[in-house]
Amino acid sequence: MKFLRYTADNREKNGILINGGVIEVDHSVIEATYPFDIEDLQEKKVYALDEVKILPPVSPSKIICVGLNYRDHAEELNMELPKEPILFLKPATSIIGHGDEIIYPPQSNQVDYEAEMAVIVSKKAKNVQIVDALDYVAGYTVLNDVTARDLQQRDGQWTRAKSFDTFCPLGPWMENDLDPSNQNISLMVNGQVRQDSNTKNMIFTVEELMSFISHIMTLNPGDIIATGTPPGVGHLSVGDVVEASVEGIGVLKNKIEKNLLF
Ligand code: MG
Repeated sequence: MKFLRYTADNREKNGILINGGVIEVDHSVIEATYPFDIEDLQEKKVYALDEVKILPPVSPSKIICVGLNYRDHAEELNMELPKEPILFLKPATSIIGHGDEIIYPPQSNQVDYEAEMAVIVSKKAKNVQIVDALDYVAGYTVLNDVTARDLQQRDGQWTRAKSFDTFCPLGPWMENDLDPSNQNISLMVNGQVRQDSNTKNMIFTVEELMSFISHIMTLNPGDIIATGTPPGVGHLSVGDVVEASVEGIGVLKNKIEKNLLF
């Protein structure tokens, strides 16, 4: 089932998506995955998707990202497969929702897209074993790990390049019923396919990542694990429309705009 956060009638709400309609539910996106009585929804107002403003599905305390986690991407770059996941963080302030604008920062001349499947953590996780890892997953969404590649190379570490406001489009919603190990993942820029792979090419599985990360830092409900990007990473320009997709979840669409306030 698809769970989302949205604004309608000037109010922020939580809902589920059924037959293309949005129905309000009383619990947050994560809590809504707990069993609830579908009969309770009969009285609720149904909105068409284009009547609501979709918001990012969760507000995480942190976004943990994995660098180089697709075999086909490592081959493309002629790099050896990593022995352990390479982790970095994006700040929660970088998150925007489906339909929001990615702002091209004036400090960079090379802003890249990276389509990724994102894991949403359901409950506090510390020292989780691989076999138990999926018990801590609320569901999955789509993430675009927007990166100022020139600054990443210049700085030698990744904080500035990965952290600009608007550099983490997330959404459009969370799907809780998904096999994370075999879904097509793709990205289009202005309608042209640039990335096209499958999550089965991931080097470290969702279970392995959840366990590895939870032995380093406590994961809180709503936290995000971005599971890496497939081959075909490339540049964005002002005016471009970028659409990242994961099969079974949906399409996360954003436009690139100039920073007019700098
Ligand atoms: Mg990435």
